[in-house]
Amino acid sequence: MRKLLACFLLISFGINAQLERARTVTETLCSPEFHGRGYVNAGDSIAAEYIAGQFKEAGCKSFPQGLFQPFSFNVNTFPGDMQLFINGNELKPGVDYIVDPSSGGGNIAKQVVYKLPIESIFNESLWNAELKTLKTATDPNGKKLYPVVVFHLTGIKGDSLKKAAKLAVQLTTDYTVLQVNDTKFTWSVSDEQYKHPLIHVQQSAFDMSAEKHIVDFTIDAVLRPHTARNVIAYAPAKRKKSRKYIVYTAHYDHLGRMGQETYFPGANDNASGTAMLLELAHYFVEHPMKKTNVVFMSFAGEEAGLIGSHYYVEHPLFPLEKINFLTNVDIMGSGEDGITVVNATKFPAEFAALQQINKNEEYLVKIGSRGPAANSDHYFFTEAGVPAFFIYTMGPNKHYHDVEDTYKELSFSEFGDLYQLLIDFAGVVK
Ligand SMILES: [Zn+2]
Repeated sequence: MRKLLACFLLISFGINAQLERARTVTETLCSPEFHGRGYVNAGDSIAAEYIAGQFKEAGCKSFPQGLFQPFSFNVNTFPGDMQLFINGNELKPGVDYIVDPSSGGGNIAKQVVYKLPIESIFNESLWNAELKTLKTATDPNGKKLYPVVVFHLTGIKGDSLKKAAKLAVQLTTDYTVLQVNDTKFTWSVSDEQYKHPLIHVQQSAFDMSAEKHIVDFTIDAVLRPHTARNVIAYAPAKRKKSRKYIVYTAHYDHLGRMGQETYFPGANDNASGTAMLLELAHYFVEHPMKKTNVVFMSFAGEEAGLIGSHYYVEHPLFPLEKINFLTNVDIMGSGEDGITVVNATKFPAEFAALQQINKNEEYLVKIGSRGPAANSDHYFFTEAGVPAFFIYTMGPNKHYHDVEDTYKELSFSEFGDLYQLLIDFAGVVK
């Protein structure tokens, strides 16, 4: 009995220590020094170096090409000033407003806001007529005005919202456009830049009833080519020269900075998954599989459109057909309501095995099933014929692609169980 207790204590101590390390990794990746692991202040590059260091510390091996796999793409960035005043009040970036990921930059002082009547948004000849008057507008001193056009979109949904959003983009050719709405902000990354700024403002920060709105803003936007790096390492099989592989993947990039004052920490998405990947790396170095190499791929450019994983699939470090199974993890920070498995319906035998393990070991309350989806880094592998799952946690934390997706919002409630489940699953798909 005492032996059993000692054994139990040892295991739970091990898991606690492992969870502590995962928490530290997550918190580090979310810290301001990592700049949201994006495209300002070399945030993603700092993260890549850190992850490479963690792989080395875990004792992982690198492929002959080294730990890094570089690739390039265009990205619209917001590296400098980001300020917006309405009627003299400064709005808080990320909270009161976000710039559209494709927003152009600019610097405008004291411009009069023109509210485009909502009925005209859905009537092309109407808004054309409305805007014609703006093109020739001058102030009392005869100075030409460049009005800021405002769309008030609160309550507009579905196709109407899509139509309005499309028109807003169209108008950025000639005007700065403010879209006012009361919905949650969800930021992303874009590879294009509109000619003028497009700014999304919370309704609470824009007094629609005010007679006149004067806008001042400075937005520094730079569209530029960017080089990012996938970070790839593996835990070799006990049997040397084995050519069998299973793969775990997680993207480490996030959205980066929106100006120098604001960054998106990306705690759940996907500092948490990166921490899980690194814990699995530690485990499989310490407990190598007999005949199967376990590969860990930490992808960049996911938020910019799965670019890093797509690049990998087109430039694999070993033949893709040697991958027995790939498990992509993204959003690992909760789990109170279980997990969801993308591609579950595509690989029913593996999904049944995963559920069986979970049932036997009582890890998670629920394993939900989904069909294929192009929503994370498993996608291009699946397209190339590699059997793969994408696993994400479910829970009360709904922060996603916003400034609130912070380390302190993560419960890590099922992190240990999920870690065990992923390890057990390796035994099935090896
Ligand atoms: Zn993600």
